[in-house]
Amino acid sequence: MKVFKFGGASVNSVERIKNLAKIVKQYPDEKLLIVISAMGKTTNALEKVAEAFYEGKKEEALRLFEQVKQQHLTSAKNLLTVDYFPCAVHLKNLFTEAEWLVHDKPVRDFDYYYDQVVCIGELLSTALVSFYLNEAGIVNKWIDVRDIIRTDDNFRDANIDWEFTKTKIQGTVAPLFNDLNIVITQGFIGSTDENESTTLGREGSDYTAAVFANILNTESLTIWKDVQSVMNADPKQFPDAEPIPELNYNEVIEMAYYGAQVIHPKTIKPLHNKNIPLFVKCFLEPTLPGTLIHNQALKKQLPAIIVLKEKQVMLELSSKDFSFVGEHHVSHLYHLFEKLKIKPNLTQNGAISFLSVFDDRVEKIEKLALEASELFDVKVIKDLSLLTIRHFNKQLFEKLTEGKKILLRQQTPDTIQVLIQ
Ligand code: ASP
Ligand code: MG
Repeated sequence: MKVFKFGGASVNSVERIKNLAKIVKQYPDEKLLIVISAMGKTTNALEKVAEAFYEGKKEEALRLFEQVKQQHLTSAKNLLTVDYFPCAVHLKNLFTEAEWLVHDKPVRDFDYYYDQVVCIGELLSTALVSFYLNEAGIVNKWIDVRDIIRTDDNFRDANIDWEFTKTKIQGTVAPLFNDLNIVITQGFIGSTDENESTTLGREGSDYTAAVFANILNTESLTIWKDVQSVMNADPKQFPDAEPIPELNYNEVIEMAYYGAQVIHPKTIKPLHNKNIPLFVKCFLEPTLPGTLIHNQALKKQLPAIIVLKEKQVMLELSSKDFSFVGEHHVSHLYHLFEKLKIKPNLTQNGAISFLSVFDDRVEKIEKLALEASELFDVKVIKDLSLLTIRHFNKQLFEKLTEGKKILLRQQTPDTIQVLIQ
C-alpha cells in the first residue's frame, strides 16, 4: 500500500483534476490511500469568509462563500456527466454545514469558527475528485476524515489523539481495502470528541498523509507537487536553484526548521518512526525522478542549501537599568513568545540586550513589543532578510552577501545565518 498526497495546485482546475486521474491510473494494481488539499486558493478564500463573519459582516461572508460554492459547482459541471446530480447534492450538504453557522452570531473564539468554515475546502475538493474518478472508472471510496482523525480542541493548530486515530484507521479505514484499491480523504482537518471540526495548521495536509502512512504502515508516501523536486533554494528567489535527487529526514528537518518551504515540518516524524520513504514528485511531469527522502546516510554530498526569508523584523530588547540580561529576563521573554504563539527565527543574547528575529506579523509584533516594554527598552527594526546557508562555502557566502549590510551573524560548522538590512 502507498499513500499519495495531492496539494491544492494539483486540483485547482478541471484539467488538473483530469491530470490527477491520469497519474492514479498508472497504479492499477496498487492499494492507494489518497489525501487531497483544498482546490487552489480555496483555503485563503474561506479564511476571508470566516473573518467577515467574525467581524459581523454576514452579508459579505455569504457573498464570499457564494464564490467558493459556484467555483466548485462549475468544476463539477465541467467534470461530470452522469454523476453531476449526486455530486451536487453532496457538495450542497457540505455548503449547508458552513452556511448555518454563518447565519448565527459569533459567540466563541475566532479560531473555532475559522476551523468550522475552512475545513469545508478539503471536503469539497475530495468529494469532487472522488466522484470524477468513479465516473472515469477508477473505483474509489470517499471518507470524511473527521470521523477518523481525532484531535484536541486547540483550533487552527490541533493536536492529534494518536491512540483514537490509530484505532479508527486500523478498524475502519484498513478494512476498506479488502474490497477496493483506492480510498480518498482530506488532509489538514480532523475533529474533536464533540464533533467540532479542527484544522492542523496551514499546509497541514502533508502531515495528515504521513499520519496515514505511519498507521497503515505503508511502503511509501508520495507528495505530488508542482515543482520537479525538492530544490536547494527557492527558484523564484534564485533562478539557478538545482534539484536535489536524494535527501534524508535529518536534512529535511533542518531545512524546514530554517524556513525552506519543502514539506510541512510535522510530516517527518511519523515517517521517520516507521522508516517509511518519502517521494516528492511533480504532478505535471510524473516521469521525472523527483526527490527521494529516506532514513539512511546520503551517498552524494549535498549542494549548499539556501533559505532566504524576507520581511523579517528584529527586536532589540535592552535592560532599562544597564543590568545584565539574565535568565530571569530571558525566561520572561520566552513565556511571552509562547503566550503570543510567536517563534523567533534567530536569537542572540548579549550583555545588556537580547536580539530576536521574527516573521513580520504586524499584530503579534506590536503586542510583543508592548508587553516586553514593561521590562526592556524596545527597539524594532523592520524590512530585514534572514539568509541561511547550509553546507556553505566561503565563495558562495561572499557572493550572496556582497555589498549587503549584515546586522547579525551566527555560524556552526555546517550552517551560517546572517540578518541583512
Ligand atoms: N488547504 C490547506 C492550506 O492551504 C492545507 C494544505 O494545503 O496542506 O493550508
Ligand atoms: Mg497546499
